[in-house]
Formats: sequence, C-alpha cells, structure tokens
Amino acid sequence: MDKRVYLCLAHMSGREQDFIREAFDTNWVVPLGPNVNAFEEELGAFLGGGKRVVALSAGTAAIHLGLVLLGVGPGDEVICQSFTFCASANPAVYLGATPVFVDSEPRSWNMDPELLEEAIRDRIARRGRKPKAIIPVHLYGMPADIDAICRVAERYGIPVLEDAAEALGSEFEGRKCGTFGALGALSFNGNKMITTSGGGALIVPDDETRRRAMFFATQAREPFPYYQHEQIGYNYRMSNICAGIGRGQMTVLDAHIAHHRRVHARYAAAFAGVPGITLADNPDSRWNSNFWLCTILVDPAVSGTTCEELRLRLDAEGVETRPLWKPMHLQPVYAGNPCYVNGTAERLFGRGLCLPAGPMVTDGDVDRIAACIRACVKSPVA
Ligand SMILES: *Cc1c(COP(=O)(O)O)cnc(C)c1O
Repeated sequence: MDKRVYLCLAHMSGREQDFIREAFDTNWVVPLGPNVNAFEEELGAFLGGGKRVVALSAGTAAIHLGLVLLGVGPGDEVICQSFTFCASANPAVYLGATPVFVDSEPRSWNMDPELLEEAIRDRIARRGRKPKAIIPVHLYGMPADIDAICRVAERYGIPVLEDAAEALGSEFEGRKCGTFGALGALSFNGNKMITTSGGGALIVPDDETRRRAMFFATQAREPFPYYQHEQIGYNYRMSNICAGIGRGQMTVLDAHIAHHRRVHARYAAAFAGVPGITLADNPDSRWNSNFWLCTILVDPAVSGTTCEELRLRLDAEGVETRPLWKPMHLQPVYAGNPCYVNGTAERLFGRGLCLPAGPMVTDGDVDRIAACIRACVKSPVA
C-alpha cells in the first residue's frame, strides 16, 4: 500500500533548526527578536510595493488586528466574501460587528465586484451608513478580481482588508496578493504555502500603520514607566522560535510555489478531455494563482459520478481530498446575517473537491489520483 497522500503537508527546508538553535543560543526565546525582525523584512521584500509586515501568532489574529486598525466596533457591518473559511468572518464578530456576506463570481470563485456594489448600496439605503470594511478572499490561492473590488471600495470610501491566507505568492497583474488593499492578512498555519507551525502576518502600507499594529498586538501599552492602558490590546506577536521556522521556510517559498504550479499543470494534462471534470484555472493572463490546493468541479450529468463518490473512492485509495468550503451564508452560526447571493458559492460547494497539491505530492501521486478519478467517470448519461 502506498503512503497516504495529504492535501498540503508541511515541508521543511532543513535550515529551520539553524535559526531555532541560534534563538536558543542567544536566549531570544520570546515573542520578539532577531528571527521575527528578519522574517518580517524577508516577507516585505518578497511582497514588494514598499509594504511593511507585522508577524503575528495566527492568520486569524491578523484579520482581527486588521479590523481593529480599521476602527471596526460594535454595531458596525463588515462585508465579507461568503465562499471562504470561517476565519475570514469570525474576527468581525469578536469586535461586536456583523458580517454581511457577498457571493462569488464564477471565474475566480471569489467576491463578485458587481454584487459587492449592490450590497454596499443596499446597506447604505437600509442603515444610513456605510459598512466599515470589505474582506475579499483569494481562495485556494486564486486571486480575486481585486482591481475591480478595490475600484468599488474606493468609490464608496470603504477600506479593503485582503484575506491572502491561502495566497502567499499569488499575483494579479504582476502584483502580489495581499498588497492591493489598505491591509492584507497572511497565514503560516501547518497546511498553508509555508508554515511557522502556526502563525500569520498583517501587511501594512507604512511605518506609522506598522507602529499602530505593533501597539495593539502587544497589549496597547502606553509609553509610561509603569503599565498604563488607554485602549484594549491583544497578545498577538509571533514567537522568535516560530519566526525561526519562518526564516527557514522563506528559503524554499519560491520552490514551493513552483511545485504547486507544476502539480496543477500535471492535473490539467491528466484531466484534459475527461467529461464532466473541470480543473479550476486562472481565468485569464492577469491571474497567476499559487494553486495552494488544486480544485475540480464534477458535473454529475456529464461525468456519471459525484464529488462525494470521488472523495470516498480516493479516501479508500489513501488520498485525502476535501469538499470546497461551505459558504458562510449557509452556516448555521451565520443563519441570521444579511447576505447578497447569486447561487455561485452554493453551486461550487455542491460540486467541488480539493485535491492534494502540497510540496510532498509527487508526480506519481498526481498520476495515481488522476487515474482513480478517470476510472470513476462513466460514459455520459444521455
Ligand atoms: C487559514 C486561513 C485563515 C486563518 O489563518 P490561521 O493562521 O489558521 O489563523 C483565514 N482565512 C483563510 C481563507 C484561511 O484559509
């Protein structure tokens, strides 16, 4: 029996232990230090555009802190992409605000810019005030139509917080995801493009915003000799040990991205001409996904199979797959929230499957997975 194949396992460069050992040798075993500073510098250089980076304990913390910086509070509304992981939306609730969900457009599977504008107008008409922030997501690494989203946001003067947790290295029109909005969030959880064992980062435009983010990430302590607090802060900084893992991972980030793209190309070749199986791909040349996870849509009427049948068959073959994210507007916990829906996210959820694409996935794994899926496809139903 072959080894089990997972969606996206962590993969170490071999350098991580050196940076961790250095932290121990110099007694920087705290949530600040040389590894944290260097990791932030390296991420900033990777992202480009003069962006600054604040390393944090999680991607969820980055989104939470981003909303704090945008002044989100009780009674506010935050527009959030519905087709996503819960961590895009939950931080709004932490702050007493209400997520308002907007559905996706079918090309990128991310926030529909036209529906976004409709939602903004309707919220203003109903409430007499604007939503406080907009959270588009670059889901599975596929960039949202971020230019169009930012244009709508600008027209109404609402800041954009990009959830780029899955999209480290993805680009739209040659620019890195996470650098378009007022703020951007990254995740280094164990299954993302790179890992710090657990961690995240907030992408900010300048040193002043960076200073404010650091202030709220370290308990909002005022500059007094004693501990003086005038605002509520958080304990969200990244440990110098975790940042050591991050520095090691930065040495293989480009290789990881290239690997995910190579895996995607191999799936594309394997599924070419297979009826009813559609691999998600960049909509046009402006898009350049990192293909964090490769995803397929299964049309039962054409393929004679379903994504659930494929999931069970692949599981029996020792391959981990996963249904696409269940949209937030269909989650029981968000049942009462306002939502602007066009049916796209719900349709994707019912028809899609995530396939393994991580750095441990070999060409042989891809061939085996594709062969298993092809074997499930029956002659088209008349
Ligand atoms: C992973 C993820 C997050 C949260 O990141 P953590 O580091 O796990 O807190 C947020 N949004 C999306 C879309 C994610 O996939």
